[in-house]
Amino acid sequence: MSKNPNFVSHLECSLTGDRYPAGEIHGLSKAQRPLLVRYDLEKMKKQLSRSDIENSDEPGFWRYAPMLPVEEPENRISLGEIMTPLIPLQQSALILGGKKGSILVKDEGRLPTGSFKARGLCLAVSMAKSFGIKHLAIPTNGNAGAALAAYASKANIKSTVFCPEDTPDINVREIRLQGANTYKVNGLINDCGKIVGDGKQHTGWFDVSTLKEPYRIEGKKTMGLELAEQLGWCLPDVIFYPTGGGTGLIGMWKAFKELKSLGWIKGKLPKMIAVQASGCAPIVKAWQEGNEHAPVWENAKTIAAGIRVPVAVGDFLIIRAIKESGGFGVIVDDHEIIHIRDKIAKEDGLLLCPEGAATAAAYKQAIQKGLISESEKTILYNCATGLKYPMPEVSQFVNKNEKIDYLEF
Ligand SMILES: *Cc1c(COP(=O)(O)O)cnc(C)c1O
Repeated sequence: MSKNPNFVSHLECSLTGDRYPAGEIHGLSKAQRPLLVRYDLEKMKKQLSRSDIENSDEPGFWRYAPMLPVEEPENRISLGEIMTPLIPLQQSALILGGKKGSILVKDEGRLPTGSFKARGLCLAVSMAKSFGIKHLAIPTNGNAGAALAAYASKANIKSTVFCPEDTPDINVREIRLQGANTYKVNGLINDCGKIVGDGKQHTGWFDVSTLKEPYRIEGKKTMGLELAEQLGWCLPDVIFYPTGGGTGLIGMWKAFKELKSLGWIKGKLPKMIAVQASGCAPIVKAWQEGNEHAPVWENAKTIAAGIRVPVAVGDFLIIRAIKESGGFGVIVDDHEIIHIRDKIAKEDGLLLCPEGAATAAAYKQAIQKGLISESEKTILYNCATGLKYPMPEVSQFVNKNEKIDYLEF
């Protein structure tokens, strides 16, 4: 591993465009909005090529290190990331109203800690390490806390995690086992976020909440870079993304624009589709009403915990990406999410998480409404392993001491 050529030029307030120096610790901008990392793309274009990336011997997203802000190789924390597979839907594509092979599932459940939160938090922890930060804190619906805990432990940084008390037990336990100080809170993720924010001055911890520091977006940006490389630098027509805080959608859109500036991709960028659940759809509702900002969604409720995010600081960035890309928002019901999860598991042997299944439900709806066509090459994001979620019980039983009726099977 060689030291990266560092192409970072500065950070930029995503709302006002104000510049901030790189190389210093930052949270939100003065306008209380996310900061984006900007690169000298002209210089990058001269010094870096697609084949430099293609020839990298890093198997996971660290292959994009030259396009990321972590300068010193020893600060690249790794838990064995891989390039996640693209799996074409076969039988279940027909159930969704698509064609066999035109729908690809990007299965992010195979990353360390079982979700794509690994990408963002790996970058945030790596940057925290390079800044010498000693204590990180986060509100989480489960997966972000697990990824923070694991990467922080690997980096030898203390972590403290707050989750809503109804976060699935498996997530809470996993977070603690991977080394975080873990607390349940009688509230939702935004209530947990307030505790993290209010605690800063008392504890000195650094807040790694979604979009409240600049580097989780850069980690999620690797989803866009990886997709481009995997598809031979030729992007799909449509991307369905289960949208909570929106880091991934914003990050991918940033990746595509950077790739475009580098001249590494040609043609139209994909339509970005934000998928939310009917029990918590602040972003899609704001988009439908023509607004850029989304007020807090009251009484948020959905089994797809990863997208149960009642308010997002990056609301306007998500909505702008949807609009610029010619995309749209889709709202799906929980019962449809579970129905489709079960179908895809049964037909294609692919167990999606509810948030991933939500993108498949949204695809079906978009086809039915004529918003997309079955010939469009589509990516569905399965953002976490289906194994972390409740599954229906098995009640069939064989008593080995009784005569077995083999005709029953
Ligand atoms: C965090 C998460 C999401 C939402 O991702 P964002 O990029 O924050 O919008 C969706 N699904 C799962 C499983 C998650 O953990």
